[in-house]
This record gives sequence, structure tokens and C-alpha cells, in this order.
Amino acid sequence: MNELCESPAETGVLKRLTDLIEDGTLSGTNAWTCFSKPLASHQFGEPIVPPVVFSSDEQKSLKAIKKRLVALLVKRGKGACAYCKRPVGRYGFGWHLEHVYAKSRFPSKTFMLSNLTIGCVDCNKWKATSVDKTSVEGQLGIIDPTKENFRYGQFLKYVHIATESLSLVKYMPQHPLGKETWTRLRFSEIERVTLIDSMNAEMASLHDRMNDFLLDRDPSDEGDEVATLLRKLQSSMYRLS
Ligand SMILES: [Zn+2]
Repeated sequence: MNELCESPAETGVLKRLTDLIEDGTLSGTNAWTCFSKPLASHQFGEPIVPPVVFSSDEQKSLKAIKKRLVALLVKRGKGACAYCKRPVGRYGFGWHLEHVYAKSRFPSKTFMLSNLTIGCVDCNKWKATSVDKTSVEGQLGIIDPTKENFRYGQFLKYVHIATESLSLVKYMPQHPLGKETWTRLRFSEIERVTLIDSMNAEMASLHDRMNDFLLDRDPSDEGDEVATLLRKLQSSMYRLS
């Protein structure tokens, strides 16, 4: 992400975070928390571990880099989730800055621009539980939207048809990795949810409120019982059988 830095202070604070990962002081996940929620001090783990402290200039630098990062990724992804292609943002779905290779397992890729994209809350959630734990270097297990010369249509065809009263989304895998993406990120649920949402405004609004709540929760945190329960509820409320 050095490409995004516009001053020696910004390059410096980013280097500080990558150094803290390299020397084992911070995990990729905790270093990313320092970056994405710039505070004067972060306390991780037991109180015995000294807090990671940031000056107000460092916090300003982190905020500036993040702002540029978000603008670049949203522009690069054309405002859509890199995996399911549904629109994200103000008029779309809740979204995350998405590490293609999980920062928890590939800490050295935490601040690599080439490992970052935009993912909607649904894809982020399913990827954390069904992809991130099994991917190995060079083999993500599903489509890698950050790969050079990547073309979505080679892996999946995406059709969205909307009328006044109905909205239909259909994914057609064109490649084994497209099929893996469809299965592991539960695209069949997206197809079903889109249709039901278009018919049932109340259920759609409840789903949106749950998404808003889940936005700030880390999908890999298995101890977060409220978030786990809400995710289960979200998946079950659309099951027709
Ligand atoms: Zn998505």
C-alpha cells in the first residue's frame, strides 16, 4: 500500500505496522484493526502485553491512507462486490475491505494492495467460514478477483433482471473455480434472497438491519455469540422448506 502514501509520515506509519507484523508483535488481524480504526492506543490480548500507541499525526496519516484506499478499491471494483457482483455502498449492500488471502493466515499480505478488494457482507461472511481456513498460497480455492488479467465472465456469468415487482439474480458457473465460488459463498442463497426480498419489503428491511449490525463484527471471531446467532438467523429466515 506504499503506492497510496503521499508523505514520509504516511510511509513511516505503514512501515511501522508491517514491522510490527514481521517481528511478531501484532497478528495481521490486529495490525489491520490499528489501520482501519485509528486510535491513540490499541490493547490486544492480556493486559501484560504493552498497548500499541499512535501519535495524533500517525492517526491522521492512517486515516488519510484509508480514505485513499477505499476510494481506489471502490473505483477499481466499480462499486460492486468482487465475488457476487452485487452493488455495495449507500444504495447497495453493506461491505468490507476484503483481504483475498485472509490476513489471519497470510499476515505478510495484510497491507498489500494486490491482496485487497471490496466484498459484500454476505460473501465476506461465507468466505471467512468456508474458504479462508483452507486456502494456500497460490490456491485460494475460489475465484481470485485480484489476479492479473482476471475476467469475471470466464468464471461466472451473472444475470440480474428487475421488473416493478420482481428481482431475479442468476449465476451460471463457467469454470470449476466459478462453481466452487457459487457453492462455498452460497450464491444459491443470494438467488433466493433477492427474489424473496423483492416480494417482501419487511423481511428485506430486517435483513438489512442485521447486516448493518454485522458490519462491525469480525466473521472469524467464533466467540462472538450474538453475531453468530444473527448470521444463523439470517440464513434460516429465507429457507423455504
Ligand atoms: Zn458479494
